[in-house]
Amino acid sequence: MNKFACKDLGIDCDFVATAETKEETLKKAMAHGGTVHKDIMKGQSEAQMAVFDQKLRDSIQPV
Ligand SMILES: [Zn+2]
Repeated sequence: MNKFACKDLGIDCDFVATAETKEETLKKAMAHGGTVHKDIMKGQSEAQMAVFDQKLRDSIQPV
């Protein structure tokens, strides 16, 4: 199992995603971010999004 938590990115949110694979976890995290945190995502440039995407991937941990 892999786990992502918004708190790991310093976001004040209790959302946690778990899935069998890292890709699946990332997908759930992106779906959550795209709806609940769309205000954060919206103001980002493409370069900032790339950094954010990398951080997100790095924060997904096996559990
Ligand atoms: Zn969240």
